[in-house]
Amino acid sequence: MLLTIIMLGAPGAGKGTQAKLLSKELDLPHISSGDIFRENIKNQTDLGKLAKTFMDKGELVPDDVTIAMIKDRLSRPDCETGVILDGFPRTPDQAAALYKILKELNSKVNVVPFINVEDELLITRLSARRTCRENGHIYNTNYSPPKVEGVCDIDGSELYQRDDDKAETVKHRIEVFREQTAPLIDYYKELGILEVINGDQYIEIVCRDILAALPKRILNIKK
Ligand code: AMP
Repeated sequence: MLLTIIMLGAPGAGKGTQAKLLSKELDLPHISSGDIFRENIKNQTDLGKLAKTFMDKGELVPDDVTIAMIKDRLSRPDCETGVILDGFPRTPDQAAALYKILKELNSKVNVVPFINVEDELLITRLSARRTCRENGHIYNTNYSPPKVEGVCDIDGSELYQRDDDKAETVKHRIEVFREQTAPLIDYYKELGILEVINGDQYIEIVCRDILAALPKRILNIKK
């Protein structure tokens, strides 16, 4: 594993949107722990059934389950040149586990863009977010609506509101972020690899800022 980029940010900060763009730009797989859980829920696996009980409440899925799932995903051949992680790690124990997993692969986290957005905007964004059923493409009914209401522009599948994007759950997810995930901001800052990005800008501008913040070495490797 050559390159590991971790997208850090509260729910609704734009991690998924930016991870998808970066994945195209850098030709690296986009690994979203939330997407893997949702896929398991759709396929009604045991992992999906377990994850759903936590996700519906806006709680984190337990570390041991999440870490095992990501470890398995990172061992697949498409991760050999690197990965863009979105939604993992979300706790200090997950970050410690990731350190170990990468060490075994003679690798480490290279850069951590932290997409910074005020709480109020996060709440507005999440309540207006719609997700495509087939491939998880993301829309916002206010800022980036689909051409046809309720239908994904890209693959024509149905757009739905995630249960955990409903108003009651959104606030709790942001609290969970502050309590359990925010310590990672300092952790990666101390390692000297955190890049703070203003997430309250147009999608293209946020992406440009992230690309500009990536160490030159990373962009050179991908040329
Ligand atoms: P996301 O799609 O990243 O917003 O994740 C949706 C939900 O999946 C979260 O609210 C958690 O319940 C669960 N989840 C995703 N990633 C993790 C993780 N790294 N650790 C624990 N739970 C997670």
